[in-house]
Amino acid sequence: MKDYILSLDQGTTSSRCIIFDKKNNIVSVAQKEFTQIFPNDGWVEHNPYDIYFSQVDVAREAMQKANISPSEIDAIGITNQRETVIVWDRATGEPICNAIVWQCRRTAHMCDSLKAAGYTDMIRRKTGLVIDSYFSATKIKWILENVEGAREKAECGELMFGTVDSWLIYKLSGGQAHVTDVSNASRTMLFNINTLKWDEELLSLFGVPRSMMPEVLPSSGIFAHTDSSVFGLPIPIAGVAGDQQAALFGQCCYAKGDVKNTYGTGGFMLMNTGDKPIFSDNGLVTTVGWKIGDKVTYVLEGSVFICGAAIQWLRDGIGLIESAYETEALSLSVPNTGGVYFVPAFVGLGAPYWDAYARGAIFGITRGTSRAHIVRAAVEAMALQTYDVIKLMEKEIGTEIDSLRVDGGATANNFLLSFQSDILGKPIVRPECIETTALGAAAFAGLATGFYPSLEHIKQNTGINRVFEPSITAVQRDAKLGMWHKAVERSQNWI
Ligand code: ADP
Repeated sequence: MKDYILSLDQGTTSSRCIIFDKKNNIVSVAQKEFTQIFPNDGWVEHNPYDIYFSQVDVAREAMQKANISPSEIDAIGITNQRETVIVWDRATGEPICNAIVWQCRRTAHMCDSLKAAGYTDMIRRKTGLVIDSYFSATKIKWILENVEGAREKAECGELMFGTVDSWLIYKLSGGQAHVTDVSNASRTMLFNINTLKWDEELLSLFGVPRSMMPEVLPSSGIFAHTDSSVFGLPIPIAGVAGDQQAALFGQCCYAKGDVKNTYGTGGFMLMNTGDKPIFSDNGLVTTVGWKIGDKVTYVLEGSVFICGAAIQWLRDGIGLIESAYETEALSLSVPNTGGVYFVPAFVGLGAPYWDAYARGAIFGITRGTSRAHIVRAAVEAMALQTYDVIKLMEKEIGTEIDSLRVDGGATANNFLLSFQSDILGKPIVRPECIETTALGAAAFAGLATGFYPSLEHIKQNTGINRVFEPSITAVQRDAKLGMWHKAVERSQNWI
């Protein structure tokens, strides 16, 4: 048995590599940003080779930094930006165009037509998703319709499609494997999450030939071996999952009802719903968490569009702060927001409001309002929006959660987590290792090779950094929530 797992965390703006030892300690980290391509308004692309080479570079760098040789790596885990589409030529392995990134809105009109044609229910029943240009299906259709010769080649079986995990494995294996895992497949809008198979009806609706699709494997197991030319010797790729699902696993949310929230640019809340999918009528997304052996775990997912991004706006948009770090001390410099409420509906409101016409607003300003009050209101808004999504999730599953596990950049802010606990009336648990996404991928890989003997072993080695307990009364909580919901209502239907 070798000593380390190499976790490749392929994100939207950077590729990272983290090396873990058996006790889940981080032994080495390397990170590299790559170019974002914006060819048109609302369009986002990546060069597939930037994705691949930055990922291989950081893997080599992480090993070098810690003086670890590839022969000491037991297995590789991969976690990745989800939904992003790459199409390449089967004969040459060359992409036929840039990757279309999940954020890209170029296919929004296709989604409008699908909704108008009445496909919403069928697509939700089969895929668990709402019709949206984020998901892969319309992006593949766009490529087949707009890249010269693509449609003909695809019909002749000459093209391959993959999400970023597939592309990385294809390249790392020297073109030997065309595979993906269930969690990534479930974000394509072409995968039936009930049968766990590519869905013929959806493939034909989007005009995607079956021959383009990768083989779908469980999240933990041998996907391929790296070609010797990459690291000097073959290493098994043994765990793969989309970033949010990997984070849920890295948070040890193995049991039904376990839930985590990531406070990044946006907010992503995922709840383990056990071995049955729960379909939401309120705009939460149902997706596959992971599959280990024959056992599938489903997840309910809700997102907050603007979370840490509101703090970025305070810094870059209006210059109220110099760094995100300041927001904790500023928030604590006042006893409360002085009646100020900040609704960061910069791009409308998602779950549970679903109002594309809402816009950001700050309410309750008086002559006594200070910078600290506004900053505190922005931090509180991250927690208040999270509260609204949790309540919706609880409604969908019919029970209350026990506690909330958290990660993401903004969880450095103790005031935020303490306020979150107050508002929710539940403990908030911050783990020691906040690299939960990379840890999740490592865990999938290590379980497959025996590096980690069991889920229990992983859990025992995943320490808790701090638990935040609620400290306000129900009356105080209700008063705060009442004012927040009043503010949200007033921001709605604005444009
Ligand atoms: P992403 O992965 O989405 O880029 P991160 O998990 O790195 O995001 O988190 C960065 C976000 O967290 C930024 O939007 C930033 O404004 C916010 N953030 C970082 N530190 C703090 C802090 N101490 N308090 C509040 N927000 C913070």
